[in-house]
Amino acid sequence: MKNAKLVNKSHPTQQTAISIGDRTTIGGQDLLIIGGPCAVESLEQMETVARHLAHAPVQMLRGGVFKPRTSPYSFQGMGDAGLTILSGVRQRYGIPVVTEVMSMNQIESIVAHTDLLQVGSRNMQNFDLLKALGEAGKPVLLKRGLAATLEEFVFAAEYILSHGNPDVILCERGIRSFDSFTRNILDLGAVVALKQITHLPVMVDPSHAAGKRELVAGLARAAVAAGADGLIIECHPEPEQSVSDARQALSLPEMVELVQSLGPVAAAVGRRVRGVEPVRELSAA
Ligand code: PEP
Ligand code: MN
Repeated sequence: MKNAKLVNKSHPTQQTAISIGDRTTIGGQDLLIIGGPCAVESLEQMETVARHLAHAPVQMLRGGVFKPRTSPYSFQGMGDAGLTILSGVRQRYGIPVVTEVMSMNQIESIVAHTDLLQVGSRNMQNFDLLKALGEAGKPVLLKRGLAATLEEFVFAAEYILSHGNPDVILCERGIRSFDSFTRNILDLGAVVALKQITHLPVMVDPSHAAGKRELVAGLARAAVAAGADGLIIECHPEPEQSVSDARQALSLPEMVELVQSLGPVAAAVGRRVRGVEPVRELSAA
């Protein structure tokens, strides 16, 4: 992208790896898998998720505490009480966590209690928020806007980098189109293009793209094949009971099964899922 000085690749093999917490990175050979519910709903819910996923292997947990909902009458997230739950699980299980930051005044407390700050689609062009995140001192997961062009997406990342934060992960999560069969269209062409244009890690969120749980695993494997550096996937101990995005939530066993199924796809494109055996035939060949 012309003039996107900081996020553009300066040579074809340039690739940034970003450290998240003490032991997790994205942008190297290992894929980063993030799992968890759309929203933090209770301590028991997050404990159950952490217990199941820590061995999946899933390297990070997600859970929204400030939720950007279409209707002002829908559940808006647990707020600070949810952040306390997330932070407790993070400490007890030693697993890094990500949550969405919706406004500038939430940055300080979210930075104090989490490892990665998510900017949701609806805020991709909230330029004051992006500038403030440039000074947050923690990595940012920037989701593509609901109908953002790649140029708009790349320049949103440029805002954060140009304000001092080099640790930005781009996340393709589907874009609006004419067909309501899926919630959005997963733009895998964007993943391939972004990997060519920028040196930043690129994640894929197949959950918000599909909107239907039965489509999530197939899209996740396709994303890995297309070169994604990681996946963020919604799952819940009782998917049907999720307070938000129930239709797209996987059960915890489905999440584990999905992660296990990524091994061969990852190996085929020179990547690895930590803790998942590569296919023997490929590694022996
Ligand atoms: C979410 O991750 O729960 C979310 C609201 O995602 P998006 O901003 O991509 O819609
Ligand atoms: Mn959601």
